[in-house]
Amino acid sequence: MFFMSLKYDLHSHSTASDGSWCPEELVKMAGRQQVDVLALTDHDTTAGITEAMQAAASQGLKFIPGVEISVSWRKQTVHIVGLNIDPSCKLLQQGLEKLRGFRDWRAEEIGRKLEKSGVNNALEGARAYAKGSLITRTHFAHYLVEKGLAKDVRDVFKKFLIRNKPGHVAGQWADLDQAVGWIRSAGGQAVIAHPARYRMTSTKLKKLISDFVECGGECIEVVSSSHSRDERHIMAGFARTYGLHASCGSDYHGPENPWVHLGKFADFPEGCTPVWESERWKAPTEISVLR
Ligand code: AMP
Ligand code: MN
Ligand code: MN
Ligand code: MN
Repeated sequence: MFFMSLKYDLHSHSTASDGSWCPEELVKMAGRQQVDVLALTDHDTTAGITEAMQAAASQGLKFIPGVEISVSWRKQTVHIVGLNIDPSCKLLQQGLEKLRGFRDWRAEEIGRKLEKSGVNNALEGARAYAKGSLITRTHFAHYLVEKGLAKDVRDVFKKFLIRNKPGHVAGQWADLDQAVGWIRSAGGQAVIAHPARYRMTSTKLKKLISDFVECGGECIEVVSSSHSRDERHIMAGFARTYGLHASCGSDYHGPENPWVHLGKFADFPEGCTPVWESERWKAPTEISVLR
């Protein structure tokens, strides 16, 4: 008997945050890419989950409700993904609401700062791209590209939105233990997202991982579109050392990053225990109240 292994993509975005496709379109696209199991992990919101879940059901695709929570750890922003969360969890929703409150304030601040540096109407422009969903730096980036102020989204970040650039505002996100706590009270599993992207020294990354484990975190993204082969091996080593399950995801946002595809990335290095082999994964998430 020959078994095909399932294709998992456990990190993706929709228009509920800074992705380009609505949840239904995203799920359809995942189906076309032969993804068998898809997690929607929008930034600081679960607003896309109901639509994605319904689309997945009608396509015979397994859907994992998720979220990607913005965290401030030692003055740096890190992202913690939650998988198999119940979006009706009050504690989780209250936490995410606070983060969205910060996003609203920060957007105004970014708008003011850009205005001062000669970029007009950036807040209105970003809001138009966000179309009523929460506002992210990606929305500002789309507007600045439209205005011809940078050649693409990446270029906007480099010129305007990162530290020491005119539109930079420091993050004031959740604490690590809060984010992991919210995910756990929603019945989910916490995952350190794209660990190599933080450009931390090995010592600092180990500190992040050990803090995370202490808070009750269980998984680490070993495979991500933003990881090189070497980085996958390093993260696989950390997964083993700290007894973490391994996760994989494209972090797909849409066609503006043409090198990122849903469900298309490297296999785990040898010796990883995939998150879908964890006990928690075997009990399907019962979503009681849809929102
Ligand atoms: P925010 O959570 O609003 O601060 O925005 C963070 C999002 O911006 C990330 O999730 C990425 O999608 C995007 N982003 C961050 N840095 C870059 C970059 N250098 N180039 C392109 N997109 C980026
Ligand atoms: Mn994003
Ligand atoms: Mn992220
Ligand atoms: Mn992401």
